[in-house]
Amino acid sequence: MKLIKKAKSFNSRIPLKFKIWMYFILFTIVVFVLLWTFQILFLEKFYEGMKVRDAADCAKKISDSYTTMDKKEFRELLSEEAVENDLCVEVLDRYGRSLYSENVLGDCLIHGRENTTFTYITDIIKSDDKEIRYRMTNPRTHYNMLLYGCVLGDPDKPDGFLLLNAALVPVGSTVSIIKRQLMIITAFLIVIAFIISLFLSRIIARPITRITKSAEKLAKGDFDTKFDGRGYLESKMLADTLTYAEEELSRVDTMQRDLIANVSHDLRTPLTMLKAYAEMIRDLSGDNPVKRNEHLEIIINETDRLALLVNDIFDLSKLESGRQKLNPTEFGISGKLSEIIDRFKGISEKQGYTIHFTPDEDVKVCCDVVKIEQVIYNLINNAINYTGKDKQVFVRQINKPEGVLIEVEDTGDGIEEEKIKLIFDKYYRSENHKREVVGTGLGLSIVKAVLKLHNYDYGVKSTLGKGSTFWFIIKT
Ligand code: ADP
Repeated sequence: MKLIKKAKSFNSRIPLKFKIWMYFILFTIVVFVLLWTFQILFLEKFYEGMKVRDAADCAKKISDSYTTMDKKEFRELLSEEAVENDLCVEVLDRYGRSLYSENVLGDCLIHGRENTTFTYITDIIKSDDKEIRYRMTNPRTHYNMLLYGCVLGDPDKPDGFLLLNAALVPVGSTVSIIKRQLMIITAFLIVIAFIISLFLSRIIARPITRITKSAEKLAKGDFDTKFDGRGYLESKMLADTLTYAEEELSRVDTMQRDLIANVSHDLRTPLTMLKAYAEMIRDLSGDNPVKRNEHLEIIINETDRLALLVNDIFDLSKLESGRQKLNPTEFGISGKLSEIIDRFKGISEKQGYTIHFTPDEDVKVCCDVVKIEQVIYNLINNAINYTGKDKQVFVRQINKPEGVLIEVEDTGDGIEEEKIKLIFDKYYRSENHKREVVGTGLGLSIVKAVLKLHNYDYGVKSTLGKGSTFWFIIKT
């Protein structure tokens, strides 16, 4: 185990440049080993096999022409084949007497050796396929030779016999020539492979090294770092991905700063007010029940504001930690929507807001009721906060084949196109929010987290100056 760990850490310490270079060299070595093995070890076998095949082909040609050609033509064919294939050819009649004879080999195994040719003829007759292939050494020259023999005409009643003799000599010298040639080529190619691989490994590693340097800068918090991925597709993709990560990091960083600024601002104001009104009660209005109640009311409202902020942060961190499990229950959606709208009765009556509810047939849905309640509550709360001067909010339930579509519409200023993709992000709050708009910038992030956890579709349609419609679909 320890050894593996060591090996791994050693492996990850080798620079990419060196690794690529090493693989190139390894590849070159493998290629050369294969080349040498094939050339030197198998050349002889390959050569012999080829010679045997050539002899068999030649024999077939001769035996096919034996009956069809006239004597002159046949003799010409024999001498042509003998010259072309470096052969010694002997055609014998059925009694073993020589009919035709061609010799380009000089010292061969068949010419002028009737005793031996007779033995070969007997071997041909005895063999199953009426054919012999012998590899033998010429006793005088000590060269390796191939002797090929077959019948002419009908194998059961042969018209005659054909004997071919080819030399297997050149292999030894060829091998040594090839060896020398290979050595030169090998040395030359190894040097070239060495240089090319060095060059290539540098080219391949360069963008990675460059990107790593930029990534180090990014890690230190420099969000203006540029990633240069020029080189090849993968390095370009890596650079693009890092640029995207950088943009996201920078955005989250700015948002986090904004949140801290927003949250501390939102905390400071109610806390100051709490302190001020508590002091007022202590010093001034303690004995005046009307004033005291008024001040206490403000203290209660501010405490609510604080509790809202703290709860939102807590809920979101729970949802995003992934530890939050859904607890699905079945309930009627229309009833639930009316119930939530009723909760806004106080504020709508006090401040003149009207929430219009258009229900559809009450269907049963199955989801985490507490969390979905929070989604609907946040959407209506936002609609009230951001609706126009007419203070109208519309809540609609529309039953569809895929589920229940819930829409919350307001008549406010609407949201700019480029802001739409940001509003569901954590900590995002429009810069121009007013103090009377109670919010933490976390409401829609909670909506998004809950709907994602349920795997429900959601979105927003908005027209500048006319209002926005937030929607989601509870799957049925
Ligand atoms: P907040 O507490 O600021 O309302 P949210 O997460 O609920 O936080 O909303 C984020 C931002 O999205 C808001 O600051 C606001 O700019 C925008 N927004 C949300 N709902 C609406 C709406 N109905 N109309 C216009 N803008 C909205």
